[in-house]
Amino acid sequence: MKTYEQDLAWQSLADKALSGQCLTAEEGLAVLEADNDEVLPLLQAAFRVRKHFYGKKVKLNMIINAKSGLCPEDCGYCSQSIVSTAPVKKYTLLDKDTLLAGAREAMARKAGTYCIVAAGKGPTERELDQVVSAVKEIRDTMPLKICACLGILKDEQAERLAEAGVHRYNHNLNTSKANYPSITSTHTYDQRVETVEKVKLNGMSPCSGVIIGMGETNVEIVEMALALRELDADSIPINFLNAIPGTPLEHMGRTPAMKALKVLALFRFMCPSKEIRVAGGREVNLRTLQPLSLYAANSLFVGDYLTTAGQEITTDHQIIEDLGFEIELNAL
Ligand code: SF4
Repeated sequence: MKTYEQDLAWQSLADKALSGQCLTAEEGLAVLEADNDEVLPLLQAAFRVRKHFYGKKVKLNMIINAKSGLCPEDCGYCSQSIVSTAPVKKYTLLDKDTLLAGAREAMARKAGTYCIVAAGKGPTERELDQVVSAVKEIRDTMPLKICACLGILKDEQAERLAEAGVHRYNHNLNTSKANYPSITSTHTYDQRVETVEKVKLNGMSPCSGVIIGMGETNVEIVEMALALRELDADSIPINFLNAIPGTPLEHMGRTPAMKALKVLALFRFMCPSKEIRVAGGREVNLRTLQPLSLYAANSLFVGDYLTTAGQEITTDHQIIEDLGFEIELNAL
């Protein structure tokens, strides 16, 4: 196809997304299989959709690893799992003062959302009490949104978190339904979908995303995007595997930066109005092309990830400033 015809084809995907239509699986696949020379026109089309819904605003999110290691599950990508030999810190749920200090740090980093993440299959009642107490105090004293990520929830636990003021709950689909058994054997893809549905039923905003680079095919990446569109996740973290020595997936390679950009464009077209976050593995997979990711994504994690280091907050703020974009701040 001639260049200008191809440019028009990407723009027609943007038109389709903006008119509320879903891309076909074939169109989604064409995005992922585009020639690398097409990445800039592709991003230009994705940016038109991003700009329509979010302008040039970038939402910042900060994670605290509220309970580390000691997880009985066997997720192959995770350094905190029972089958990982990675030398991660192991500790039980952080006390309230430490969770509050993390919230103040999130404010200092201009993060609008503070993500309280705990390793494990799901929270105990005692852990839930601790999180609820910290969340209430943060919500009473700081203009921060709270996202909790505590694993599989019982109905009453979801209700209590919502009542405490948890705005959003994260539970990622991670990979395609077909690929799920090769990543985790201790719980199922369907259980993850059920938890996201429970989050919605209890009035919290559903956050659910993926990890790219775990042996999935391009067809499966398109399936993941369609599944998250179907699930109506408000916030979609797109992680790129950072293969950690000592985990079962330690030998997986990086996702090439150009491929990562195509994935982000695909999710913007498939879930046009949603918060698309370029999440874990951003620095090691996108490397020098990180700034380009914000033409499709409108959200970032700042600071460190659960067990791996992020980059300097000043670098993230500089990327946003250099692009001429602006940080989205919560209203007081
Ligand atoms: Fe446990 Fe969560 Fe890691 Fe899976 S991803 S092993 S559930 S901490």
